[in-house]
Amino acid sequence: MNTREQLLALNDELRRLKAEGRRTISVSAEAVQALRDALADEPEEISGGEPAPTGVVREEPVAAEPARAFVLPTPAPAPVAKPALLPRPDIVLPEGDKQSRWNALREIVLNDPTCKQNVHPGKQVVFGVGNLDAAVMFVGEAPGADEEDQGEPFVGRAGQLLNRMIKAMGFDRSQVYIGNILNWRPAMGARNADGSQTGNRPPTQEEMACCLPFIRAQIAIIQPKVIVALGKTAVDGLLGPERFKSMGAARGAWHEYAGTPLRATYHPSYLLRQEGLVSAAAKKIKRDAWEDLLAVMERAGVPISEKQRNYFL
Ligand code: URA
Repeated sequence: MNTREQLLALNDELRRLKAEGRRTISVSAEAVQALRDALADEPEEISGGEPAPTGVVREEPVAAEPARAFVLPTPAPAPVAKPALLPRPDIVLPEGDKQSRWNALREIVLNDPTCKQNVHPGKQVVFGVGNLDAAVMFVGEAPGADEEDQGEPFVGRAGQLLNRMIKAMGFDRSQVYIGNILNWRPAMGARNADGSQTGNRPPTQEEMACCLPFIRAQIAIIQPKVIVALGKTAVDGLLGPERFKSMGAARGAWHEYAGTPLRATYHPSYLLRQEGLVSAAAKKIKRDAWEDLLAVMERAGVPISEKQRNYFL
C-alpha cells in the first residue's frame, strides 16, 4: 500500500468507528508523527480525489500525555457523485405463502432501478438469505466487496465471524435469516487502478431511506421471534437515527421494532477488530456481544448450556 492508500484505509476505519458510536480514539505520539511525516512526504498525491484524510483526524488540545485523544468528526459526505435515488413505487406483494411473497420481493429488489443504478458495474444487488421461518433474523449494514461479488449478505470475513456467532448460539446459518439495511455496496470516491474499491463506508441517511422498505418487508414476511441489529447502521435504520447516540447506549436492553423484540449488538466487523487484542476493554466488548446473543437465545426459546453461558468468562 502506498501512503495515499494507507491514509484512505485509515479514513475508512475512522468513519466506521464513528458510525459504530466511537467518539474518541487514542493515538500514540509516534503514530501522530508518522502521519505528519507521511503527509509532508506526499502532499499532492493526498490532496487529489478523496477528501484529504488529514481532515478526518482532528487533534484535540490535550495535555502532554503518552497517548493523545482525537475526536472523530461527523463523517464527510461520500466523495462521489450523488447516488441516484429514484422515487420508488409502493411495494405490492402478492397474496400467498411466505415463499411466494419472498420470491416476489426478491424480484422487486433485484430489479429496482435505484439499486441497479447504484450497484458497481459487474457486481450484484444483495438481497437477504436464509430460513423464511427463522426465529432469529440478523440485520447488518450493507454489502462489502465479497457480498457484491457473490450477491449474498455476510459472506466475507465479517460473515465468517457471524457464522461462528450463529454456531455458538446453537444454530446453523441455514436456520436463521440474514439481511442488510442497504442492498448495494456504498460507493467511495477513491478507486484502484482496475476501478475496484478498497474499503467501505456506512450508507447515508438518504441511501438508507431508499432501501428501508425492503428490509421492513422482509421482516414482515419472515416474522421472526427476535431481530438482532448488527451495528449502529442497523440500529439507526430500524429504530430511528435519533434514538441512540452510540452502540454502547443501544445494546444491553430490549427494544421493539414493529412489535418484534429487537436486540442491538456490535457489528461483526467491529468485533473482528477486537480479535487478538488482550486489553480489558476488548475482552469486555466480546463478552458484551456474547451477552447480547445469550439474551437473544433466551428470548427465542433456545436452550442454553452451562458451557454457552460461561463463554468469555
Ligand atoms: N457487513 C454488513 O453489514 N453486511 C454484509 O453483508 C457484509 C458485511
